[in-house]
Amino acid sequence: MSSKEKTWKEVSIAAVPPKSSEGFLTGDWKTYMPIHELEKCTTCLTCVLLCPEGAIRFRPETGKIEFDFGFCKGCGICANECPTKAITMKIPEE
Ligand code: SF4
Ligand code: SF4
Repeated sequence: MSSKEKTWKEVSIAAVPPKSSEGFLTGDWKTYMPIHELEKCTTCLTCVLLCPEGAIRFRPETGKIEFDFGFCKGCGICANECPTKAITMKIPEE
């Protein structure tokens, strides 16, 4: 950073979001949906770590992962990175 650039403290506030990030459903539209096959899942949690929306969570009480489709935007990273191919991306039938 050059000495002339402003720090974040000096930049004026441009916008104030009307609600917290949890209030914006990033997954309210999508083309593809992840389909999870429980029998192939080893609960390695790779998908939980890599989902950019935090839309996959591990539930200790069930010992399984679950998807929050309100935030899943169908990017397919989870399906690409799953080592056991337990997730496939599908276009939902209307
Ligand atoms: S498709 Fe993308 S956003 Fe949806 S659960 Fe997988 S990694 Fe997350
Ligand atoms: S990456 Fe695949 S095997 Fe690992 S927890 Fe996710 S769905 Fe299960």
